[in-house]
Amino acid sequence: MKWKFLLAFVVVTGAALAQPKLKTENIILITLDGMRWQEVFNGAENRLITKKFVRDTVALAAQYATGTPEERRQKLMPFLWNTVARQGQIYGNRHYANYVNVTNRMWFSYPGYNELLTGAADDIHINTNDPIDNPNKNVLEFINQQTGYKGKVAAFTSWENFPWIINAKRSGVVVNAGWMKAQQPNETEKFLNNLSTELPHFLDATRLDAFTFHYAFEYLKKNKPKVVYISFNETDHFAHEGEYDRYLNAANYADRFISDFWTWLQSQPQYKNKTTLIITVDHGRGNTTMNSWRSHGEKVTGADQIWFAILGPDTPPAGEIKSEGQYFQNQLAKTLAAFLGFDYVNDIKPGAAIESVLKK
Ligand SMILES: [Zn+2]
Repeated sequence: MKWKFLLAFVVVTGAALAQPKLKTENIILITLDGMRWQEVFNGAENRLITKKFVRDTVALAAQYATGTPEERRQKLMPFLWNTVARQGQIYGNRHYANYVNVTNRMWFSYPGYNELLTGAADDIHINTNDPIDNPNKNVLEFINQQTGYKGKVAAFTSWENFPWIINAKRSGVVVNAGWMKAQQPNETEKFLNNLSTELPHFLDATRLDAFTFHYAFEYLKKNKPKVVYISFNETDHFAHEGEYDRYLNAANYADRFISDFWTWLQSQPQYKNKTTLIITVDHGRGNTTMNSWRSHGEKVTGADQIWFAILGPDTPPAGEIKSEGQYFQNQLAKTLAAFLGFDYVNDIKPGAAIESVLKK
């Protein structure tokens, strides 16, 4: 009897994996480089609104820094708090002992994006931000190999190093990164292509996030991909520069970009109530001294602390998760694939899918 019961269980489980019952058919993954959980959950930090980091302290305080932490975070990221955190779930508020951490020991961008996209840290091969071809396969590449998904996976990134991180040559994933132009441009993309040669490229290795947003948006409308990864970078850039006002503004308009994506997706039959949105970061930043919010890396306490939020038809509307728990960046790749009914595997064992976002 026991044996028969066990066999029946195995058969049912196998069938459940092979035949997904979830509603998600499309995924939008968005990252805000180095956006701290401190501002995400508590809003603007008063002690950082000083002449040292902010041009107009009075105006910035009026814009973001009045009221309770709940009010302040809503002012900073209204879509995240009014829509994602109400209809979906958000993890990583350490005030409630809800922890999300990276498992790599580097605590900077390439190792973080590698862990996020491949589902495993690789401190042996990925321990610099240099543009080296990633030897590890990633979940975007895995999905691009599945029936019905080939050529339907694309990435739009402000940082120019993503063709190497995603290994576009090998993975076949469409990657538009840095100051790359749109291919076969429509009228809007022609305008963006021209504008991109008429502005100073003053963010070094990254383009302005507005270009990434508009290129991704046009591509969505034109090509109707099933999986899109969008990587914004200004939050990290302005934090390094010590410009707290621009750091907050970058988060604020990234939130608006995400809201615009979502409104459009929910107006399209292909995407409406069939799309899951995942928002997260590559790493955290410091929070000890006055200056440590600007940096990250293995020597910066707290830079391994991150957060993530998920909204979609298969995620229960549990809102801000206030229960104790420990989650890791390496779990998001398998979770992302699970929404589409795939059991993502890799040469390196990826972190387990997060079940609490997958049941409705
Ligand atoms: Zn950085």
